[in-house]
Amino acid sequence: MRREWEYRQPVDVHFGRGILDSLPDAVDRLGGHKGLLVTSPSFVSRGVAGLLVDMCGGRLAAVYSGVSPNPDVTECDACAAMLRDGGCDFVVALGGGSVIDCAKAAAAVCRADAAAAEYLGGRPLPPDVLPIIAIPTTAGTGSEVTPVSVLSDHIRGIKAPLRCDGFYPRIALVDPSLTDSMSPYMTACTGFDVLCHAIEAYWSRRHLPVCDALAVQAARLVLDNLLRAFTEPTDTEARDRMAEASVTAGMAFALPGTNCAHVCSYPLTGRYNIPHGEACAMTIDNFIRLNGRKGSDRAVSLARALGYDSPEALADAVSALKSATGMRPDLSEFHLGDADVESLAAACMHPNMRNNPVEVTYDELLQLFRALA
Ligand code: NAD
Repeated sequence: MRREWEYRQPVDVHFGRGILDSLPDAVDRLGGHKGLLVTSPSFVSRGVAGLLVDMCGGRLAAVYSGVSPNPDVTECDACAAMLRDGGCDFVVALGGGSVIDCAKAAAAVCRADAAAAEYLGGRPLPPDVLPIIAIPTTAGTGSEVTPVSVLSDHIRGIKAPLRCDGFYPRIALVDPSLTDSMSPYMTACTGFDVLCHAIEAYWSRRHLPVCDALAVQAARLVLDNLLRAFTEPTDTEARDRMAEASVTAGMAFALPGTNCAHVCSYPLTGRYNIPHGEACAMTIDNFIRLNGRKGSDRAVSLARALGYDSPEALADAVSALKSATGMRPDLSEFHLGDADVESLAAACMHPNMRNNPVEVTYDELLQLFRALA
């Protein structure tokens, strides 16, 4: 039984409807003079980006709005070039996980002389990263409180997480009103990302007592509020609780890390373009059953903490939530052949799978994907 542990959460988090208005104070606290706003095109057309620029009275000198979902290393390089050429001393990231992750990586790459693809290929990241203010617009990734940036190299067919302490934003402004514009489908996808963070953090081999408490609270919030936020998009109470779940789950997994469903999500997104959260949802109920069957005491104690008799009962509840929120039940629409299934299973034999509480073999992954195909 392990008795010693360490916990760290360096991000200064401010939560609440309307907290966005405190951005100028946050810039003051950073001592920022010249910043770059990183966002996606929809926040420019919706006017939110312009609002932030006006609010900051000239200190947000330029906008990089070229970030797409599952950002490519070339987007990161373009953003880094703007930071470098503009002589910026801080970054504001307004968007979902894709924007925040692109901004984090660019804040490091702009201080170095190599391209983002090299860091994704294993080159050590520079320790010196520009300070970041993260403003999430989805209730999903928790990237505003994690040291992780997930980048894709579409040419090489890679999507993978990079981890670096410098990626922790200095300040997170979590304003749930920004999530009000998410469609029901997007709400469900991102909500399942939160649930998977909570579950995977709890049963991670690197689990920590503080993170256990955060994970259980976050999972409860999702199980109690996701269906409401999905069916009643104007239910601000449900939206607020989902935003709270997201940042809480982010704190829960930031140190323990993710495992099974997240490992499987990367090839599912890369090959079949399934949005990140829905790709995580695809296998999470299967892993709850598998870990329970293989005798994981963490799967059992998680189910009990959430009010279920067994992992099987928790898995049934998660499967029901998936179908009630329109998450696709399987991969049948992609008409996968034997070779596709074998290649998917091989891609999931990633080192992060070893962070699952019990060993997952290639044959078990093969069986799982055969059942989904
Ligand atoms: P996203 O950032 O990819 O956004 C998806 C789409 O939704 C985009 O078109 C975006 O413009 C739009 N969008 C965002 N907010 C919106 C809003 N409020 N209203 C309407 N549209 C909105 O989605 P995401 O799920 O937040 O992020 C997924 C990415 O984050 C993936 O690449 C995933 O791997 C990564 N991720 C990172 C971490 C981390 O710790 N860094 C954790 C989990 C996932």
